[in-house]
This record gives sequence, structure tokens and C-alpha cells, in this order.
Amino acid sequence: MSVSALDLRVFILINGVMASLMALVLYFQSRTYPTSVQGLRQWASGQLVGFLSTVLLGLQGVLPAILTMGLSNVLVILAAALLLHGTSLHYGRALPRLFFAVLLLIEIPLYVWLSSDLQLYVWRLVGVCVSVLVILLWHAWVIGKHGSGRFAARFTLLVLLALAGVITLRGVTALLTPLPIGMFVSSPMQAVYLASFSFGILLLSIGGILMASERLHRELEQLASKDSLTGAFTRRALFELGDNEIARAQRQGTPLSALMLDLDHFKVVNDTHGHYVGDQVLNDFVQRVQGVLRRPAILGRYGGEEFVVLLPDTGREEALLVAERIRASKTVLPDVPVCQVSIGVASFAHGGPDSLRDLIGRADAGLYRAKELGRNRVEEVTFTTPANTAAA
Ligand code: GH3
Ligand code: MG
Ligand code: MG
Repeated sequence: MSVSALDLRVFILINGVMASLMALVLYFQSRTYPTSVQGLRQWASGQLVGFLSTVLLGLQGVLPAILTMGLSNVLVILAAALLLHGTSLHYGRALPRLFFAVLLLIEIPLYVWLSSDLQLYVWRLVGVCVSVLVILLWHAWVIGKHGSGRFAARFTLLVLLALAGVITLRGVTALLTPLPIGMFVSSPMQAVYLASFSFGILLLSIGGILMASERLHRELEQLASKDSLTGAFTRRALFELGDNEIARAQRQGTPLSALMLDLDHFKVVNDTHGHYVGDQVLNDFVQRVQGVLRRPAILGRYGGEEFVVLLPDTGREEALLVAERIRASKTVLPDVPVCQVSIGVASFAHGGPDSLRDLIGRADAGLYRAKELGRNRVEEVTFTTPANTAAA
């Protein structure tokens, strides 16, 4: 089936309309997403510049060649560079302005000259192909380096590589075959090239939208898992992480300990110094604890001034030492009233039947005992598995 000139123009038009719709979506996202999700505006600009270039291409025969060929070619390259700029920003690194300045300073005179003579058609085409190919491969390299194998990044990388393949093929065939002069003269390669390119550009904007959504999702997840006042894990995250640790300890037969911590007479701090200072004390306390803990310990805020520490691969003796170090730790922030802490300790050591709730429950019982025995102390509740009881 032959592809008529009209078909190609329709392809280009559809491509342009899609690209501008996608640009709208990207702009909308950039306005509503937190500023930490970067790159959307540049991706949208890339799509719009790409659209402008296709409009100019479509006006061949209507406008002078310097616009429909020269300027439109410069804009295609600029669009590819803007998309790359968006991705670089997304990963925290903007492309220097100098790059765009040099790019335009070289490309504008080059394509004005190449579009001045129809005999130079092949060289103009090869020139665009090489420029866009270099930018696409650079773009792919940035994603490969920072995308850490996430779906959206892999999807975009695949589209970029496919586009690079199409461009290479186009450049090579332009060099090997004598081409009819003019964009809309029927040629199977031309049709494949334009169709793939318009489809690829569309997929690239979808890739951008996916990357931004994925980033937002990760940030929200992180927000939901960290307590906003102290930065400790929230209760929900604590239980999720704790369930994993219990399962791992049971599977591997490794020990696991839990500490339940409660600030002593914290209400007095609030009543004497006000809630703001009370908040500072909570903040300071979390920093005190973090200073004692080593990875992969998990610190979560259980409730108001109650915290839980989970210590993977840690038996009771070591857990008691850690608890004692926390109890004896000093304030970190300046001018924060001293607040002592009572700690209950429980360990899970034999791979026997246990649940996180049991473990925390026993640490809580230890805490109650510490409070009863006068506060500012560490108490443990030992655990006897059915196997231990039988052996005793
Ligand atoms: P105890 O030694 O028996 O633990 O006495 P306490 O005063 O520490 O315990 P109590 O449970 O009576 O008081 C806890 C206080 O913690 C009451 C509550 O207003 C305060 N609180 C809970 N969450 C926050 C918070 O986020 N900020 C501040 N400033 N206070 C909080
Ligand atoms: Mg308390
Ligand atoms: Mg309490």
C-alpha cells in the first residue's frame, strides 16, 4: 500500500496535536505536583517546540524553505535537547545554559545554509539525524544512570533507544539511497520514519508523566512512613517493617529484640514549658536515640511520647546494653530540658512462635515495671518458648 502525501501530513498533524495535549497534561502536573518533582515544565516545552517544528514541516510549499526546513530542523533538535534537560532536572542536575547557547549558535547558521539549496537535502537530513541521535543517546545514558531500574525509567529508556534506532536507520538510508527531494513525496522509509517518530514522541511524554507520578508516589509513601514531628517511623510503618523482621528472624533463626521507651513525667515538661518545648524534647529524644542506634535498627513513634526500637540480629544481652546506652544518653539540641526515660526490653531468640504484637507487648510489660520501680531505668521481660518450658 502506498502512502500518499496527504497521509504523511495527517500523521504529522496527529503527532503535533498529541504532543500539545501531552504538553498540557505535563504543565498541569507541574502546577499541582510538589516542587520536588522536577522536569515536567521542560518536558512540556520540549513537546511544544516539537509541535511547532512539525507545523513548520507541514507548511512546506507555503512558507519559505528557511522556515519549513531550516528552522523546523533546529526546533526538532531543540525539542530533543529540552526533553533531555527535563530528565536531567528530574534527576537533580540541570543542563548548563551554555549547552543551549552553543547548540543554537552552531545549529541555526548550519541549517539556514543547508536549507538554502535543495541539493543539500541529504546532508541536512543526515545532520538532523546525527544531532538528534547524539541527544537521544545522551538522554538514554542519563536515564540508565539514575533511573535505578524503575518501570517508568525503563519504559522511557526503551522508547529512547527505539527512537535512536529509527533515526539511525533514517540517516543510513538517506546516505545509501538517492531520495526524492521533498518531505511529502511518497517513500516507504519516509512513512515508517515519520510514523515511528510521531509515535515515539507520544510515548516519551507518557514516559515523563509516568516518571513524575512514580516520583510523587515514592515521596508520598515516604511522607506516610515518617512521623512529621520527629522523623521516626510512623506506627503503621513500624508494624510493616517489624512484621518483615519477625518473618526474617523466624526464617533464619536469628534473634530480634524490641525496646519500648516512654519519657518520664513528660506531661510536666508540657505543663511547665509549654507544648512547643515539649515538641523540642520529643525531637531531641529521637536524635538521642538515633545517636545510639546502628543500622539496621528501626525506631518508630508508637504514640505521643512512646517509642519502639526494633533491633534485628540482636539478643537480649546486647539489647539491654543498647537500652542502657539510650537511658544514659544526653540531650543533643541546645536549651532543651532534660527528660529521663524508662525502657522495657523483650527479645525473641529461638525462632519459636511469636508475633510482633507479643514482642512489643512484653516490652510494654517491661516498661510498666520500670515505671513502677521508680522510672529512669531499664527492665526486661524474659520470654520462655514452649520448647524452653519443656526443657526446664
Ligand atoms: P510517665 O512518667 O508516667 O510516663 O508520665 P508522663 O507525664 O510522661 O505521661 P502521661 O501519659 O501522663 O503524659 C504524656 C503527655 O504527652 C500527655 C500529652 O499531652 C503529651 N504529648 C503527647 N503527644 C505529644 C506531642 O506530640 N507533643 C507534645 N508537646 N506533647 C505530647
Ligand atoms: Mg511518659
Ligand atoms: Mg506515655
